Order: sequence, then structure tokens, then C-alpha cells
Amino acid sequence: MLRRILLAASDSARMRRLVTTAPVARGVVARYVAGDEAADAVTVAGRLRAAGLLISLDHLGEDTRDARQAEAATGEYTALLARLATAGLTAGGAAEVSVKPTAVGLGLADHGEKTATENISRICAAASAAGTTVTVDMEDHSHVDATLRIVRGLRAEFPGLGCVIQSQLRRSADDCAALAAPGSRVRLCKGAYNAPQDVAFTSRAEVDRSYVRCLLALMRGDGYPMLATHDPRLIEIGAAQAYLTGRGPGDFEYQMLYGIRPAEQRRLAGGGARMRVYLPYGSDWYGYLVRRLAERPANLAFFARSLATRS
Ligand SMILES: Cc1cc2nc3c(=O)[nH]c(=O)nc-3n(C[C@H](O)[C@H](O)[C@H](O)COP(=O)(O)OP(=O)(O)OC[C@H]3O[C@@H](n4cnc5c(N)ncnc54)[C@H](O)[C@@H]3O)c2cc1C
Repeated sequence: MLRRILLAASDSARMRRLVTTAPVARGVVARYVAGDEAADAVTVAGRLRAAGLLISLDHLGEDTRDARQAEAATGEYTALLARLATAGLTAGGAAEVSVKPTAVGLGLADHGEKTATENISRICAAASAAGTTVTVDMEDHSHVDATLRIVRGLRAEFPGLGCVIQSQLRRSADDCAALAAPGSRVRLCKGAYNAPQDVAFTSRAEVDRSYVRCLLALMRGDGYPMLATHDPRLIEIGAAQAYLTGRGPGDFEYQMLYGIRPAEQRRLAGGGARMRVYLPYGSDWYGYLVRRLAERPANLAFFARSLATRS
């Protein structure tokens, strides 16, 4: 219930104003976000890389309703990729980027899908020139078909383009089976958006069971699974399935969010696993922060405590 309320708040303009103007919000945000500027993101990415971690950088921003803003977001990514290459972070795909389709135009009233496709294609070209890859994030359930169409269409030219499947959606095990083809990079997560019961599982247990079905389809297939979760049980099941399907440490990866379970991130990397940290940066952090609070009531208590003690 609390999760649904918080996720609804992630769309509220009033809540956005209230939270983003609270002086203490900055301190909480710093725990999950690299900073406002690309330079901050490159610095933190360098630190993570030095600790043996892989990185996927995300320029915060979503739901763009303006073509110029979509263009600006695309430019931000191409410039970021050039900076990462100069810093020596893109070699072998060590640092890649994650892109939200609605940040680069999917939600535009006119030609949204075409605009997003063109913009993601430009980001893929910049990533390819920098020696790395792109993963297209998955957003609200209403965008799944368009997002998968975009990825399928661009994979002919950019075979390393990755996509995301959310286990909370009822369709996802079938999507995973269809996507588990040679060279196909698929990030599996639980899903961070509200979705109605006819398309989504609503209990945690069902979402977790679906995660396992999806994980099995990806591990038994011929693609490259990217297991995005902080859930210790699912991480163990992932490791066991990798062993049972004969996958070595280079044949799949774990992914976690910056600031969440950092000791576990380092433990997995220290044991020889490929461990990628999703690293957001930028000033438009409100929606991202509220989704993180929705996932974990303890984070909400932490945020409320910071508000109470500093204001
Ligand atoms: C790399 C990455 C990329 C993502 N991309 C997308 C995307 O494109 N689209 C999308 O909808 N969602 C995305 N997500 C978010 C995802 O869908 C989940 O909302 C989020 O990962 C929380 O789910 P969880 O699997 O960690 O499990 P949860 O059910 O939130 O947590 C399970 C368990 O993990 C442990 N845990 C969780 N958080 C903490 C913490 N802060 N400290 C200690 N232990 C903790 C606890 O044991 C907890 O019981 C992404 C997540 C990751 C990691």
C-alpha cells in the first residue's frame, strides 16, 4: 500500500516541489546520486572502477514532453560517452550508459517513437565509437511494447544494445524466452512502477516467483543475462543457475544501484563476478529518489529522520 502511495507521489508536481526544495533532501540524494554534473559522474565512476566494479551511468530525467529537451538529453549522453572514453573508463564496456526512452522523446505527442528511436540510435553510435554499449531502461508498463520495438529495430545495427525486463509484469517470462538469443543483453529487475493487476503481479511473492521464471529462461538461453537485484535469495539462485547452466563469470553479470548494499557489490566483484553499479547523476532526481523510497520503508524512515533533525 505504502509503495503504491509513494509511486503515485513520484508523479505529483506538488510533492516534487515540496521535496526538492527541502534543504535536507540534498544529503539523502547524495547517497544515491553521483552529483549534478557529468564531471561528478565521471569522478564517481572512476572510483567504482578502481574498486573493480563495472558501471552503467544514467542521466536523470524522464517523461520529456518537449522535442528540444529530448535533443538536449541525447546531447548530454553523447558528451558523457566522450568524457568516459577520455577518462579510460569505456574500454571493454567497463562503463556503459542506461537511457530512459521517455527522456529522449518516447512520450512526445507527435512522432514520439520515431524521435526516441533516432535519439537512442545517436547514443548507440557514440557508445560504439567509445568502445562500449547502451542499455535501454524499462519504464511504465504502457511503454513496454514500444521500448522493445525500438530495441529490436536498433539491434541490427548495434547488436550490443541491451534492454530491461520487469518480473512484475505477467508477460515477462515469455518476453525473456523470446529475448534469450545469442548476443542479446537483457537486464532482469523486479520493476519500479505502479501497474494494474491485469498486467502485473501485485504481491512480492508473485513478483519474486516470476523473477525466478524469467531468470531461468535467460540463464538457459543463449543471451547475456544481467541480474539487477539486491535480493540475497535471488542473487543466490542466480549464482546456482549460472553454475547449473555452465556459465562462467564472464557469461552474465549482477547489477545493483549506487548506494544500495555497497559491501555486497564489492564482495561479489572480489569473488570474481562481473558486478555493475547503476550510477545516476543530474539535477532531476525527484522521481528516482521516490522510487527508491518506495522500495524500502527503512529508507523512508531515514529520510523522515533527516527532515526532522535538520529542519
Ligand atoms: C541496476 C538496476 C537497474 C534497474 N533498472 C530498472 C529499470 O530499467 N526499470 C525498472 O522498472 N526498475 C529498474 N530497477 C529497479 C528494480 O526494478 C527494483 O525496483 C529495485 O531493484 C528493488 O528491487 P530488488 O530486486 O532489489 O528487491 P527488493 O524487493 O526491493 O529488495 C529485496 C531484498 O534486497 C535487500 N535490500 C534491498 N534494498 C536494500 C538496502 N537498501 N539495503 C540493504 N538491503 C537491501 C533486502 O534484503 C530486501 O529484502 C533497476 C534496479 C537495478 C539494481
